[in-house]
Amino acid sequence: TGIYSSVHQLTDHLKVPTDPNLDIASFVLSQFPPPHVAELKPALIDSTTKQQLTYAQLYRSIRSLSGGLYHLGVRKGDVVFLLSPNSLLYPIICLAIFSTGAILSPANPINTPSEIAKQVVDSGAKLVISTPEELHKFERIRVPTIVTAHQSKTNGSLSIEELIECGEPHELPEINIEQSETAAILYSSGTTGTSKGVILTHSNLITTARLVRWYAEGTSSQNDIFLGFIPIFHIYGLGFFGFGLFCSGITTVLMQRFDLQEMVNAIEVHKVNNIPAVPPVVLGLVKYGKGNSSLSTVRRIGSGAAPLSKELTEAFRAQFPWVELRQGYGLTESCGAATAFVRDEAAKAHPGSCGALLPTFRAKVVDTDTGLALPPYKEGELWLKGPAIMKGYLRNEEATIATLDKEGWLKTGDLGYFDEEGFLYIVDRIKELIKHNGYQVAPAELEAVLLSHPNVLDAAVIPLEDEDSGQIPMAYVVKESASQLTQEQVIQFVAAQVAPYKKVRRVEFIDAIPKSAAGKILRKQLILQTQNPIHSK
Ligand code: AMP
Repeated sequence: TGIYSSVHQLTDHLKVPTDPNLDIASFVLSQFPPPHVAELKPALIDSTTKQQLTYAQLYRSIRSLSGGLYHLGVRKGDVVFLLSPNSLLYPIICLAIFSTGAILSPANPINTPSEIAKQVVDSGAKLVISTPEELHKFERIRVPTIVTAHQSKTNGSLSIEELIECGEPHELPEINIEQSETAAILYSSGTTGTSKGVILTHSNLITTARLVRWYAEGTSSQNDIFLGFIPIFHIYGLGFFGFGLFCSGITTVLMQRFDLQEMVNAIEVHKVNNIPAVPPVVLGLVKYGKGNSSLSTVRRIGSGAAPLSKELTEAFRAQFPWVELRQGYGLTESCGAATAFVRDEAAKAHPGSCGALLPTFRAKVVDTDTGLALPPYKEGELWLKGPAIMKGYLRNEEATIATLDKEGWLKTGDLGYFDEEGFLYIVDRIKELIKHNGYQVAPAELEAVLLSHPNVLDAAVIPLEDEDSGQIPMAYVVKESASQLTQEQVIQFVAAQVAPYKKVRRVEFIDAIPKSAAGKILRKQLILQTQNPIHSK
């Protein structure tokens, strides 16, 4: 029938109760270690301050913050916008929001005030939670704001820390939350256009939580130490560090953001064993991780969010032969990983593969011309189905219909194939999306910025392959004939308006943007022309 299923079974104790009334926070808290372990075992350690939080402290903090948020007026269905780098407070805030039945909408703290304003408005946020450092970005936004930690410069704003410290001011009343209700709205550009709110339900997140637990139990021991620099505002970080790993009673050392030297220090100090990573981090280790002994405690590195090449995998294995390097694949729209390797021998035997389907997932590889499901080794668009797949895009029926078919298949916009054993290979991206250091950059958003320049007549943005970061955004620009506009001016114009990772890093002037009869930009043609400038002339 052309449908691939997971070869793995979820063991019984990891199955979710079928009770329709269950929220992700209750599920995760029910998986915490028993009290005598929870009182001693650190759930989280801050790599900078060295502050530790045991499972028992984490439990109490989540409980008192959810009561505090309820007391402040946060109600079921309210959207709470969260802007912060990773911190010990981050997972507490996420789980406290989920407990009240409110909806979490996180964003990248390096986004610009206008990018942030767009998401606050689009998500319909009723409350903003921000670090004191980022508070200035909300000056023109009329939404009540609380800060994470208290600092004098925050003009007496209420802080999350105070809400936690004042204990359980008002116990959270019984709130009926159904698995089918919305828990989080994360932003993704999907296959085309600008950022859209991805609706993730409690049931989606519970599926991810038990998959993370299943994966952690199959690949690591309870005494393993994980390192967390993957941002929790992204589904990859949220799934692992926002809630998933707590289901296995594991200790995680959290880093505010990635830094190679700080990562190496944290590995040494905390004897880290497991690192969920992205390809540029793997490359960084190969290029600069010369002190091999620095990775001596590490047993496993995962790579996701962007393609990891065979060559890089081989170079890494040659330098760090004792470390298992395994690739996984997933999307915000699939609430995290859909494929991964559970066994290292399989990863070694299938170079270039992103692993096999995780439990609960089904997949099809679809011929984009005929719509037919293809057999092993045939390339087509990857479609995914299962309880982790998003409900749809927020207030965007057109994009939802274009992405989810009537039977609930998610069209990923990625081109790939399965081998006979069910291992997935992603070979290309057919959607517009650009990935810079694992972060999403939507060409349509940059094109809109470029078109707002008075001397720009037309523009198209495409990905340019880049060794260090995976891809960089490149712009083709049609300027007014009399204009003196330079490439550098175009680069500066965009840089002033977008977050640093979205910057256009190369510009070419062109006479006309190639378009289809329907007026769609022919991106593939521009990409080929860029890779092969002579042939295209
Ligand atoms: P995001 O929603 O930000 O997680 O982005 C999801 C997209 O990242 C996917 O649709 C792929 O295009 C890309 N991606 C994620 N993991 C991989 C991987 N292992 N190999 C290739 N592309 C990947």
